[in-house]
Amino acid sequence: MMFPTRKSFMPNGRFKPGERAISTGIYTATHHQHRKPHEVLVVEGEQFPKCRKCGIQVRFELLHTATDIKSDRDFGKTEDPPSKKARSGRRQN
Ligand SMILES: [Zn+2]
Repeated sequence: MMFPTRKSFMPNGRFKPGERAISTGIYTATHHQHRKPHEVLVVEGEQFPKCRKCGIQVRFELLHTATDIKSDRDFGKTEDPPSKKARSGRRQN
């Protein structure tokens, strides 16, 4: 195992293509020369892609985190209280 210390995770670090997003949020993609920095949404755990033009020279920087609506506690599916399992209606024959 050659992992560097996991503690060195910095929320505001810069990421290279191939690295994985530490959290869902808006990232600034900074390209090499051909394009101005712009914002992109990246989902936690996804790999940052290479740029079609500048390849692995693009960098991603976490601007601010956002919650994927599907995992939001008020919007997404959470564990429903398993209360009415016994009353799931009548059986069909
Ligand atoms: Zn680029």
